[in-house]
Amino acid sequence: MGRLYNEPSPLEVKIVTRNFGLPNSESIDTYLAHQGYEALKKAIGMSQEQIIDEVKASSLRGRGGAGFPTGMKWGFVPRQLDKPKYIVVNADESEPGTCKDRLLIEFDPHQLIEGILIAALAVGAEKGWIYIRGEYRYLIDIMDKALAEAYAHGFLGKSIAGSQFKFDLYTQTGAGAYECGEESALLESLEGNRGIPRIRPPFPAVSGAFQCPTVLNNVETFCAVPAIIRDGGKAFADLGIPKAGGTRMVCIAGHVNKPGVYEVPLGFPMMKFINEVAGGIPNGRKLKAVIPGGSSCPILRADECDLNMDYDSLAKAKSMLGSGGMVVMDETTDMVKVALRIMRFYQHESCGWCIPCREGTTWLRKMLQRVTDGQGMTRDIDLIGDLAKNMLGRTFCPLGDAAALPTISLVEKFRGEFEAYVAKNPLAKNELVSVG
Ligand code: SF4
Repeated sequence: MGRLYNEPSPLEVKIVTRNFGLPNSESIDTYLAHQGYEALKKAIGMSQEQIIDEVKASSLRGRGGAGFPTGMKWGFVPRQLDKPKYIVVNADESEPGTCKDRLLIEFDPHQLIEGILIAALAVGAEKGWIYIRGEYRYLIDIMDKALAEAYAHGFLGKSIAGSQFKFDLYTQTGAGAYECGEESALLESLEGNRGIPRIRPPFPAVSGAFQCPTVLNNVETFCAVPAIIRDGGKAFADLGIPKAGGTRMVCIAGHVNKPGVYEVPLGFPMMKFINEVAGGIPNGRKLKAVIPGGSSCPILRADECDLNMDYDSLAKAKSMLGSGGMVVMDETTDMVKVALRIMRFYQHESCGWCIPCREGTTWLRKMLQRVTDGQGMTRDIDLIGDLAKNMLGRTFCPLGDAAALPTISLVEKFRGEFEAYVAKNPLAKNELVSVG
């Protein structure tokens, strides 16, 4: 894998990507020349409550997909408990369509280290790990080099920046399982076990890595923290909308002229993003559908895309902001094949532990294959929708829902395309039963 960063757009508001494009942006010298580690020095002079209050004031919400308020999450860590506290970074970016965290590590690893250090100060942690997905092996070298630089400059180890604060930070690679992006499965994998989810509660803030209180956040979430401490939580909050402050990195792929990763304020209009930031749809074709935040999000029809990109607006449209992986599809896209492609992925990634996910994804994939092969019946369309609905909320971790949600929306919104495939099957003409 190599350097992928696209040309920036003048409509971007660059906070976490502000150093992208600088020569040697990954080196500590470049970082220090651009206010690097100033926020850490400021945070060392603040109390734990002041740091957490500043993060709460920023309205920063987790950028991994769940969107949980970060300051509140840090506040759940029982700081007085006589156990070690840990910081874990979720860099297991594996949601199809999402490729932003890799750029943050590739182009500005010290911003991530600084954000982790501030989180460690806030909760009293002295050790942390950056869990990087297996397929991102090349990032381990970049991150390890940055860690060595930070140790050499006194920003990791003992007496950080001349203070009493000490912190050790390590990289840890996963083995390439989508499931390990789920926080409790990630912790199992980090501890050297098979990456399957844990029963929750307790949540990681109380019992995380090695049964100790753990702050576990996504790469982009930690990367936003230096700016929040440096410029104040309110300044960050004001960039976004109420209850969802700051900016968001959005990866846009599919049928657009300028695919790439862009940073825009939360609440940025989706159609403006597609047409003006990403250059619109090529060849004069019309928009057909959008996956707004990664393959696990319910799909939006073109007529549903006139909305702002924030948590509440997407929820109102019965979809999700997700992990920021947007896929744009023009009028030529075969939506039945989209459903099959998505299901192949989830069937492959199901860890097999719970029946609704293991069997559900397998049977959905088989039925979708049958329909696209021209051998489907009308009752298969109903069964696909019905089976997916029955998986919802009945699996141990969110992978079951992630497979079901896009499927349900595809069948409901593009049923005519499924029926057109079924019409190719001569046997379907004699079909008597339709399962509702
Ligand atoms: Fe494993 Fe799927 Fe169950 Fe998650 S939902 S635990 S991936 S079988």
